[in-house]
Amino acid sequence: MFDLKTIRKDFPILERSVYGRPLVYFDNAATTQKPRCVIDAMTDEYLNVNANVHRGVHFLSQEATRIYEEARTTVREFIHARSNAEVIFTRGTTESINLVAATFGQACLHDGDEVIVTEMEHHSNIVPWQLLQSRVDVKLRVCPITDDGRLDMEALPRLFTSRTRLLACTAVSNVLGTVNPIKEIIALAHAHHVPVLIDAAQAAPHHPIDVQELDCDFLAFSGHKVYGPTGIGVLYGKEEWLDRLPPYMGGGEMIGKVSFERTTFNELPYKFEAGTPDYVAANGLARALDYVSAIGFPEIQAHEQALTSYAAERMQEIADLRIFGPLGKPSSLAHQVPLAHGRGVRGEASASSVISFNVGSIHHLDLGTLLDRLGIAVRTGHHCAEPLMHRLGIEGTVRASFALYNTREEVDTFMEALQRVIKMF
Ligand code: PLP
Repeated sequence: MFDLKTIRKDFPILERSVYGRPLVYFDNAATTQKPRCVIDAMTDEYLNVNANVHRGVHFLSQEATRIYEEARTTVREFIHARSNAEVIFTRGTTESINLVAATFGQACLHDGDEVIVTEMEHHSNIVPWQLLQSRVDVKLRVCPITDDGRLDMEALPRLFTSRTRLLACTAVSNVLGTVNPIKEIIALAHAHHVPVLIDAAQAAPHHPIDVQELDCDFLAFSGHKVYGPTGIGVLYGKEEWLDRLPPYMGGGEMIGKVSFERTTFNELPYKFEAGTPDYVAANGLARALDYVSAIGFPEIQAHEQALTSYAAERMQEIADLRIFGPLGKPSSLAHQVPLAHGRGVRGEASASSVISFNVGSIHHLDLGTLLDRLGIAVRTGHHCAEPLMHRLGIEGTVRASFALYNTREEVDTFMEALQRVIKMF
């Protein structure tokens, strides 16, 4: 049962006010709020269990290790990975992608090799590949987008050459909300014998992910965008790939035997988890995933799609308001229902829970600042996607992004505030 009143009670922060007005939190693509069960589980672990994992024979250490490894199982089930060895805890999407770039770069890339990315990537799926260029002459080949903010699926096949070694692509754009047809993209890449890394930072909160059905080689997401704590994220990798890659960081826990002459490495997934992990955050993440799973993606999607459609429709009422991406065309609203169905992000549909817009010549920062004064939290700027901004010919946008706890009433409040702010100009 999707009971919005009960759900909102699970998120204490939603009851607070800012500048004397009730908070309307529409910055969920940046980070989501945390349900009480996540906060309580983490507090309880610090109060009653805390001990370093994997190292101790004593009771608390074993208890903390059990909780940590159970969290790994929860993640495995959430993304339907084959085994726990394929689930690596990182600090987030950024670290996960950097891990793959550095280790894949070391093991598999040579001068003249190519990596395909897309024009709608977040900086965290662009810069790690560029960082490699100081050591190896790797070329980025960029899949363009169409004018309505979708990947140009006609151009993509032409980007593959005999030197293509990897395709790294976001499942959902954090700016446009575009849901990319990643299953099709993965199949295309595999037909060229090219492995695929999926940035699922914006997909994980809104879409069921099934890494086996998708057949992706790597997949990254962040805990804090899916109602979990900050400082924890996941890298999924097929075991055969993770086995081939060298360790990312050296230190405790990732080793087998160490001597000054030679060091051997631990088995998966520990080979990639050097040092003390944020085991309490891993527990928090598992509780967040449990929370989302208990509500269920069909219910979450039905609610969020209705809300996004309603907001986009109401925004079309404002003259001079331009929505970027698939939602900018009213016709795409009608096609929005099958965002993703069954297991796995399929992406036949247009947009996820993100609306990026500008109004006339009003600067996005001014709009965002004044909306904030009216209690509305939105994001402004380039959203860590400067190349996409160049493609769209703009410096930035205002971005409203929704989560499972947002309401129609909040959209109405947002619209009133937006109209008021526009009048000021
Ligand atoms: N990729 C996408 C599509 C994102 O939206 C974000 C964050 O906004 C990231 C990657 C980076 O995530 P994090 O900062 O949690 O590492």
